[in-house]
Amino acid sequence: MLTRIVKVDAQEPDLRLLAEPAEALRRGELVAFPTETVYGLGGAALNAATVARIFAVKDRPADNPLIIHLSEPSLAIDLTTGISEFEVALMARFMPGPFTLVLPRHERVPDIVSAGQDTVAIRCPENPVAQALMRLTGIPLAAPSANRSGRPSPTVARDVAEDLDGKIPYIVDGGACQIGIESTVVIARDDYPIILRPGLVTREMLADFTAEYFGVERAEQNRECAEASQREQSRSQAPPLSPGQKYRHYAPRARLEIFTGDDSGARAKDLRARLERYLSVESPQEGVERLVGLFISSATLEAFKGGLSGPTALSAELRPEVIVYAAEPDPSAAAHELFAALRSFDRVGAAVIFAEGLSAGSGGEAYMNRLRRAAGGGAEEDE
Ligand code: AMP
Ligand code: MG
Repeated sequence: MLTRIVKVDAQEPDLRLLAEPAEALRRGELVAFPTETVYGLGGAALNAATVARIFAVKDRPADNPLIIHLSEPSLAIDLTTGISEFEVALMARFMPGPFTLVLPRHERVPDIVSAGQDTVAIRCPENPVAQALMRLTGIPLAAPSANRSGRPSPTVARDVAEDLDGKIPYIVDGGACQIGIESTVVIARDDYPIILRPGLVTREMLADFTAEYFGVERAEQNRECAEASQREQSRSQAPPLSPGQKYRHYAPRARLEIFTGDDSGARAKDLRARLERYLSVESPQEGVERLVGLFISSATLEAFKGGLSGPTALSAELRPEVIVYAAEPDPSAAAHELFAALRSFDRVGAAVIFAEGLSAGSGGEAYMNRLRRAAGGGAEEDE
């Protein structure tokens, strides 16, 4: 199959260019398109054969459900058997945006979308290209990230092509995604937002909103009840609340190590220790340079360089491929560059990647979740 790339303006896409991809979606074909989080692989959500094709093209495990994308939250009414007042308020506050809400599923939504669960996940992307395409198409779109299952999510059209060229008829190229990691997935059945997957709508934002909505005391009671019922659910034989979290994800081909510490100086020190260990333990063939990927802020890179006094074995034996994600250490800036960096390291053939760990600050939880899973950590480590 020939994959056509349809390039549009990121802010004001020409609707005439989007007409063909929209028509293809209505016919049940698959179209990759940008959202503010990552590129999605869209298909008609209420067409079971189309949804089966999404799973096949991605090679996605059948028990990992898809998120349904809508141009506006009111359209969710047809897809669920009921939305509580608090859920309506959450949707009004955080949609459109990088926020997904898990609701009770209407039978109109095919089983395969939700991997057989009795819930359905709903999101309304804010990205102007996604909005324009969804409005033109006029139907709910199932849209998981547009990568082969297990690979880093795509944040530019080229990354989509790398995984899906020849497998889908259209890739809409609307430039780089604004956020770069996937949405926050939330379930709020017990009047408290429980995070199933962290994202840039943070735990703190959700807690503040809930406290505003119910008052601090009642919000706290709701939290205790909701957390207890979630623990109960994970102890029982019921399917996991967020099946996607159990899979290895975002994995580059190289091994990934996370260097940590409270500030740039401490992280630079940890990085140095890890590099020394790597050089002493993993000896390559004589004369073979070691290509090491380094994902770091320039502040931490400066601290790292400052700590190397005189000629050091490190610089002689290593050929570092350095990607500086920002001047200062900042989790949302790092998250924005992470997936693209992992793909670049793969392209140059890095043997091992060292990535800067940043848990403090807005977006820290979401960034560390992706980083740990790229390093091979499972769900236990995430939560
Ligand atoms: P992706 O579209 O690739 O970003 O993955 C979608 C994520 O949403 C996965 O982590 C799924 O487990 C999660 N998800 C989708 N539908 C549901 C649902 N009905 N209940 C819980 N989690 C869901
Ligand atoms: Mg995904």
